[in-house]
Amino acid sequence: MQNTTQLFQNGTGAIVVPGLFDGTLTIKELMENGNTGIGSGDGLDGELIIIDNKPYKIDGDGIVSIVNDDFTVPFGNAHFADYEDVSVTPNLNSKDMSDVIFKHKPFENTQFSIKLHGQFSHVTVRSVYKQTKPYPNLIQTAENEHVFEGDNVTGTIIGYYNPSPFSQIAVKGFHMHFIADDLSIGGHLSKFSGFNGHFGIQLFNDFKLRLPVQNNDFLNHNFSKDDIEGSINKTER
Ligand SMILES: [Zn+2]
Repeated sequence: MQNTTQLFQNGTGAIVVPGLFDGTLTIKELMENGNTGIGSGDGLDGELIIIDNKPYKIDGDGIVSIVNDDFTVPFGNAHFADYEDVSVTPNLNSKDMSDVIFKHKPFENTQFSIKLHGQFSHVTVRSVYKQTKPYPNLIQTAENEHVFEGDNVTGTIIGYYNPSPFSQIAVKGFHMHFIADDLSIGGHLSKFSGFNGHFGIQLFNDFKLRLPVQNNDFLNHNFSKDDIEGSINKTER
């Protein structure tokens, strides 16, 4: 039976900060833990968004494709979708979204997912190019990312909220990926405005974290000198 109260995660935010970009779990294995999710590929190969069991990748040029079962991820979240519809203000903007959510739901200290589907008057997304070894760190990789802007686009956001006490596990606050229904634009979401459509929230009780214990670069890395929180905040906003 599908457990709809569990959030699964492969890797952590802290692991990708110093450039530990090896894919350590296949997309097939990730999706055994959910039909919905987000992530990145081996070598930080683009931005992933999983909707209704379909794993889409948006590469550094903004090209969308569906990845094969053996595509691997250094970081990924997945869960089985069971969203509760909430009514939000018309023409919602990303900067007002937290206030709107926490007015309805006192979930500031826990993990949950959001799914938005509908019309956006504007979205700003971005994506990174696959890196090769020796890998640069996350900040160096993000310097070469591409930003894409979309007007009057219909699409889906999948996002996860990670409360600040667990800020090094994932992105603090909301980590959201977007894809248009017609696959014309997608990526890591920076901001949106003028949203009208369905807004769903799904709360989790359980968090299952998989660490890449077969990966020697991870096992031997000294994390004590990495500015993990600073790097995540700088690159994932
Ligand atoms: Zn992202």
